[in-house]
Amino acid sequence: MNLVAPSLTGWMAFWVGLCLCLTASAFAQSVSSNHATERLPVETALAILIDPASRQLAGEASIKLHDGSPAELLLNADFRVTRLELDGSRLDVRPRRKGRLNRWLLPPGKGGRTVTVIWNGMLSPTPTRQQHSETLGDRNPTAGPDGGFLPAGSFWYPLIAQHDRLALHSWRVRVELPAPQRAVLAGTLASERVTADRTIAEFDFPHPGEGIDLMFGPYKVMQATMQSRDGRKLDLRTYFHAELGELANDYLSSVRDYIALYEARIGPYPFTEFSVVSSPTPTGFGMPALTYLGREVLKLPFIRGTSLGHEVLHNWWGNGVYPDYAQGNWSEGLTTFMADYEYALRDNPDAARAMRLGWLRELSAIPAEQVRPLADFNARMHAVSQAVGYGKAAMLFVMLEDYIGKPAFERALQRLWQESRFRVAGWDTLRGAFEAESGLSLIAFFDQWLKRPDLPTLRLERAELIEGGVRVTLAQSEPPFLLEVPLRIEGSGGAVSQVLTLSRAQQSFELAVDGRPARVVLDPESRLLRRLGALEAPPIMREIQLDTATRTLVLGDDAYQATAGPLVQRLLKQQPREISPGEAPDASPLLLIGATAEIDVWLAEHELQPTPAEVAGRGELRMWTTRFANGKPITLIAASSPEALSGALRPLPHYGQQSWLVIENARVVDRGVWPADAPGLELRSD
Ligand SMILES: [Zn+2]
Repeated sequence: MNLVAPSLTGWMAFWVGLCLCLTASAFAQSVSSNHATERLPVETALAILIDPASRQLAGEASIKLHDGSPAELLLNADFRVTRLELDGSRLDVRPRRKGRLNRWLLPPGKGGRTVTVIWNGMLSPTPTRQQHSETLGDRNPTAGPDGGFLPAGSFWYPLIAQHDRLALHSWRVRVELPAPQRAVLAGTLASERVTADRTIAEFDFPHPGEGIDLMFGPYKVMQATMQSRDGRKLDLRTYFHAELGELANDYLSSVRDYIALYEARIGPYPFTEFSVVSSPTPTGFGMPALTYLGREVLKLPFIRGTSLGHEVLHNWWGNGVYPDYAQGNWSEGLTTFMADYEYALRDNPDAARAMRLGWLRELSAIPAEQVRPLADFNARMHAVSQAVGYGKAAMLFVMLEDYIGKPAFERALQRLWQESRFRVAGWDTLRGAFEAESGLSLIAFFDQWLKRPDLPTLRLERAELIEGGVRVTLAQSEPPFLLEVPLRIEGSGGAVSQVLTLSRAQQSFELAVDGRPARVVLDPESRLLRRLGALEAPPIMREIQLDTATRTLVLGDDAYQATAGPLVQRLLKQQPREISPGEAPDASPLLLIGATAEIDVWLAEHELQPTPAEVAGRGELRMWTTRFANGKPITLIAASSPEALSGALRPLPHYGQQSWLVIENARVVDRGVWPADAPGLELRSD
């Protein structure tokens, strides 16, 4: 196997706290952003033959259209259709080409028409040296001896568009492969025959699904069963590469626990099975009834405790209730809130607070001109959308639960599930469920967090002692948001928490407090979506990664210049802009890379703090962040040798949330975020 993965610690930073998944069918949005429909107009039956060695695919599809309206048949233009029939009559196989798709128009007719398609073609080779982000963007169906992946969004089989959107459809799929290859896809495994030279499996998915994601590989399959909350037998399986065999039982037992957990909270698991499938590439996908995770990822000990639960939960949110992409994808935020965030909360309240603060930091690191409203988030494609689609959406649910209370929040989730299972639901459907269970109007709440791209900037303007308590003045940026602002008043009577409703740009509140109050702290637990002030948001590397204005400067000889280039490319994901001679270094965010001694000199020349104690003299490469006097962020990367820069190439880009780190032997050995304080004001009686 040629897969080269980042170091273990690199993976750790990458996977923990970030969602692994993107429902593969989100790719199908390239045809249409609105595929809302509640009927089941299309039934698809496929017979597929794949030879991983030659990468040849041959397929036959029989597609029943219950809706008599005109339809369009769509197939990846890399495939060749050799026969096309409508109710047994031959149609012209010559397609109209549009982009990467071939299209055939099907005239209107009676409901119940059947389209038959016979097609074949060659799949792309399974990539071996791929970054996660590249895997996410890859739309080609792939095959190889180590496995293959045919995402629905690659249009590897004929899909139907009707009424200007992709039709949800059920499927029955028969896949034949040479042994020891085994196929897996969403649905009940109706039958599987394994002979000495072939495997033939049949899957049945009777629900309105978004599309068929087919995976195969030289898998060893392990199986366990459990009983669902409504008394059905559920089959749990692992499709693992041989070297993962001894992890299978642990994975099966964790899947059982997660299904039981979410069945109790939301409602019965919607499918008949759940499979954990090993991918030859560093992928992370959640699909109906299965998750597809990189074989290297599956070995990481913490994956079962975090990402696996997130993927199981997607069977309710994302693959059980489908987001209406025209209104934005809510499923990642809700899944992050009920999985990753909840696990942190269960382990340690401080970890949960750190997660909230991390989201706020990331959101605050997005330059004002690049922020997008949450309603625009469809899927994770780059870091900005990730901060918004996961972090901002998860914070929305934190605030919503605070506002309406946990019992109403939990009942609303159950209502959403009962009313929208296997249907498309937009943010407005969610709002309806939360309003129905809380009895509150939430239009203003959802509107401001979904439609406004900006976040409020909040200040504790004044705090003074008055008779029997304190008077507090809060101020926020304009136009004002409607905010429930948490406040803590500390003093001789202990600490008292209050929530103030702030609706204007500036507002004063008089609060009765026992004892002698000494200090007022604004949002001490980071429970409010807001743009953090400079002191609350110590610089993290992500700031220079996200800002398109970032410029670079490399200090050192030719060898440093040569090795810094690829690192800059990986960190910035944009064409680097070098600082020009004579240009003020603090005019925009700066990425400074170089030999340790030269960086020390540069810092002294520019009257900046010397190398901080956390990193000074440690490892072979040190990264830290600081700010110019004008507030613009700097990320410094000081290397002991040009080779150390090359060694940072794989791990470093995954640590955007850090303020500093140390790399030794191409591994991150220590890291951290500069401490931050919640803004507070001391109270004096003078
Ligand atoms: Zn996810």
